[in-house]
Amino acid sequence: MMPRAATLIPGDGIGPEVVDAAVRVMEAAGARIAWDVQLAGKAAFEKLGTPIPEPLIASIRRTRVALKGPLETQIGRVGYRSVNVALRKTFDLYANVRPIKSLPGVRTAFSDVDLVVVRESTEDLYSGIEHQIAPGVVESVKVITARASRRIARFAFELARREHRRGVVAIHKANIMKLSDGLFLACARKVAKQYPRIRYTELIVDNACMQLVRRPEDFDVLLLENLYGDIVSDLCAGLVGGLGVVPGANFGARAAIFEAVHGTAPDIAGKDMANPLAVLFSGVMLLRHVGQTRPAGRIERAARRLLAEGRTRTRDLGGKATTSEVVKRLIARL
Ligand code: NAD
Repeated sequence: MMPRAATLIPGDGIGPEVVDAAVRVMEAAGARIAWDVQLAGKAAFEKLGTPIPEPLIASIRRTRVALKGPLETQIGRVGYRSVNVALRKTFDLYANVRPIKSLPGVRTAFSDVDLVVVRESTEDLYSGIEHQIAPGVVESVKVITARASRRIARFAFELARREHRRGVVAIHKANIMKLSDGLFLACARKVAKQYPRIRYTELIVDNACMQLVRRPEDFDVLLLENLYGDIVSDLCAGLVGGLGVVPGANFGARAAIFEAVHGTAPDIAGKDMANPLAVLFSGVMLLRHVGQTRPAGRIERAARRLLAEGRTRTRDLGGKATTSEVVKRLIARL
């Protein structure tokens, strides 16, 4: 089999450590990927004077898939614009997906969680339209369109169908935001009619949060607008062990970028302490996306056995192991 080309962005902070760890494990599992390494974020800014170099964009345009480490976003200050936002806009990555699954040996309040959060990621309050009407009065505009709502609903139902999932629940606040969330729901209902085998339900977002922390095992595919999706997906990450173990992906019609949920973790960067599993599981999603399901399955099984055995865990999971020790053990298991 010819190796599949993919862009690799090591990222900032712990990024290079965890991305390198993930790549080594993927190779040991038999993944056939020809990585095209590209700088972005602070690393690119320092070396090339821009956080989003043209070769990076050209590379993703060519490969259509990327595995990305976290990137430092400067707040205020001289700050360059967010690379994550720029990539999302350039490639119209409208669907943010987080699979949330309980892991053996990772102690949390719940044990049978297996859900997927599908978040619309191009509009809503993130459109960035804010203005001051008068001193002391500001407005932030929430933009919801039928086009984006239909597109994300279709994405959620297609994912449910592909993964043989039972149901899709649309999460909203249409009792208050009757027009915007009302439109989102109307679109979801219309799309749901085209998938009669998948159960479609609706939940108001506050109630959904309460149900999620009471009986997360009752949830399957969650369909949300951008803001609710942002909040609920972190809540869901907390259900299964937090930032160090939850993968994610951003899908558009022509490209997909896979990345962990966590940031650059400057407090532990360069100390060989970071948990590589979140980026590794994002790599597993990438492998499935490009049809390399066997190495993907192998990695998943090895990681689950490693966690169940409980000896080799990083500090965020209550262990003492270093990033390198986790990689070594995983490769030995493979
Ligand atoms: P963070 O996720 O970097 O860190 C939060 C806490 O979780 C820290 O204590 C950190 O040590 C810990 N942590 C994170 N990942 C871990 C891992 N793999 N293993 C063990 N512990 C881990 O969040 P933050 O501190 O809010 O953000 C730091 C920087 O990251 C900021 O510049 C922010 O803009 C950026 N960021 C980038 C992305 C991205 O590129 N997708 C996402 C979130 C934050």
